[in-house]
Amino acid sequence: MLNLLAYLYTFYAEGRNHSFEIAKRRDDLLSFNAIIIVSGDGLIFEWLNGICERTDKLQILENLPVGIVPCGSGNGLLASVLAYHKNSLNKKGFENRAIQLINNKEALSSKVNLMHIEAGERHMAAFLSVGWGLLADIDIESERWRSTLGQNRFTAGAIVRTIKLKTYNGSDQQKNANEIGVFSKNDAKAFVEYEKMLHRISGVLRIALENTPISLSSNYTVAHNYEQIKRVIEIATKLKFETVIDLYEMLTAPISKVMDKWFESDVLKATIATDGVIGFAASPFDAGTGYVLLHHVFGNLDNNPGSWGFVYGGMGAVSDSIRTVGQQLGVDFFNNSEVAEILIDDNVAKGVRLASNHELYGDKIFSNCTPEVTFNQIIKKGVIKDQNFNHSINNINYTSPVTKINVALSELPNFTSRPDAGKIQPHHQTTIHLNCESMEIVDNAFKDYKSGIASKRPVIEMTLPSSVDRTIVPENDSNAHVCLLFVQYTPYELATGLWSDEDKKNFVNRVFTQIDEYAPNFSKSVIGYDLLTPKDIESTFGITGGNIFHGGMTLDQMYWLRPSKNFFDYTTPVKNLYLCGSGCHPGGGVTGRPGKLAAIRALKDK
Ligand SMILES: Cc1cc2nc3c(=O)[nH]c(=O)nc-3n(C[C@H](O)[C@H](O)[C@H](O)COP(=O)(O)OP(=O)(O)OC[C@H]3O[C@@H](n4cnc5c(N)ncnc54)[C@H](O)[C@@H]3O)c2cc1C
Repeated sequence: MLNLLAYLYTFYAEGRNHSFEIAKRRDDLLSFNAIIIVSGDGLIFEWLNGICERTDKLQILENLPVGIVPCGSGNGLLASVLAYHKNSLNKKGFENRAIQLINNKEALSSKVNLMHIEAGERHMAAFLSVGWGLLADIDIESERWRSTLGQNRFTAGAIVRTIKLKTYNGSDQQKNANEIGVFSKNDAKAFVEYEKMLHRISGVLRIALENTPISLSSNYTVAHNYEQIKRVIEIATKLKFETVIDLYEMLTAPISKVMDKWFESDVLKATIATDGVIGFAASPFDAGTGYVLLHHVFGNLDNNPGSWGFVYGGMGAVSDSIRTVGQQLGVDFFNNSEVAEILIDDNVAKGVRLASNHELYGDKIFSNCTPEVTFNQIIKKGVIKDQNFNHSINNINYTSPVTKINVALSELPNFTSRPDAGKIQPHHQTTIHLNCESMEIVDNAFKDYKSGIASKRPVIEMTLPSSVDRTIVPENDSNAHVCLLFVQYTPYELATGLWSDEDKKNFVNRVFTQIDEYAPNFSKSVIGYDLLTPKDIESTFGITGGNIFHGGMTLDQMYWLRPSKNFFDYTTPVKNLYLCGSGCHPGGGVTGRPGKLAAIRALKDK
């Protein structure tokens, strides 16, 4: 045994993916007789995936056997191989057999099938099984007990997960393809490629959106931007030309043109295109709408690129959890306390004065109000002397065509295209797009808006959060539902003047009647509703123009120009005052990014 060990070359996996990298990069692998992996299934997975990244993978898989000395918390592969040979993992002796491989390729060995798994952009080699949902959760969540519980971590994880059972709603590409295929078989195929393209380019865009814009100012050296520049170079060297072109096209083209390139069915084209005009006073035929769509898919929820989700307990739950964490850290919160003024002394922010006249002081002051509210309403006029800055803040476009109608329903909408007899179906749990059967319908809705009237046939995006979260409806009413309607295009002010109560009533009736065309039980199931025109959104939430993004998401108002040239790094002309809301890079959406990046920036300032 000792003699044998003298021929062993040993390396220790120093962390995640170390084995993967060795398997992928070593150019002398074929000079070894075998590889003995002393671990659980995880390292074997890494090793095989590293090999599968190589151009000579077939030669290596064929000629370099893998022996396993089981040590980790899960040894499913070895247990299966041994079971195949009517042997057991509990029987001693396999360590020796594994080591025998070094001198004898004929030692007990088995060929093992590998599966090629494609998950979004990831390609993997897997053995035995692919876990999703409950089993995968147990594996991942019990990872934290690896060092303390060993293989018992799985039992502990299973108990915890069983107590806190949850529903897993996966996406099913085949079902997607079947549904799209109703309109066009070609589109069903193209959709898969389109999604891959989107994931590729949003992966690149994400680097720009998740980091502070690279500074070009002469005050900044390469060292300030080192990490970002390094990442950009890393990514750029791996980028395919095709991805760059796709990204360029998405950033600059009207979404209608992008859709025409990919698809042939009007219904699919217009439905997808609505994401290019969401919250944006533009027609799908206008340039810039491609970027707005992209902005809506760069996110990533539970490792699913491009996906969106409902917040359990409603949107207020996000603020509640921030408050809970803050309170644990000793933060004081002053809710429902309007800030009347940011206190500035000699161009240094010192604190805020509340509408109640109570004053609060701090070393650093952050505002997540819109740039317009921050600089024109709660900072006294004339305090900021930088006229270029003032000019650019006054020029931000806050136009918004969105009216929100929040509806309480006595029962689920029952769509004629997919009758459901009151049972929650997958389509209830997604966004439901109405009045967008063709690009022309959407464009006509926009043309109405341009002429100063609310669209005669507005684009409606419906969501039913209660179809996944029953905490937001009365406990004793199992049929009740919350229905959110995101409707456009509606002007801030109509050509005839401000919205009257009658205008609002007529508009709601029109929207409900048109929903009835798709789900005839809708109007009669309405218990109550709340309608917010752009002006109402502005006055209710204090966001300028009712613009849901704190300023339009056109390229001229993004990155280095959000909110203003020279102040895209969350600083302002006032020392110790920072902007941290959607009016800054990377813009609107519940991403937490502007806040995080503003905090990082402020921490750098003494
Ligand atoms: C109708 C609607 C639908 C949306 N849908 C989505 C969606 O589905 N997904 C998504 O990701 N994003 C959505 N958004 C966008 C998202 O809500 C915003 O981008 C995000 O909330 C911005 O966060 P923020 O912290 O920058 O600003 P906000 O959440 O707007 O917070 C700014 C706060 O400042 C307060 N304020 C204003 N003036 C004062 C003052 N003088 N004193 C004290 N406080 C003041 C406001 O009341 C507000 O609470 C939607 C927005 C709207 C309006």
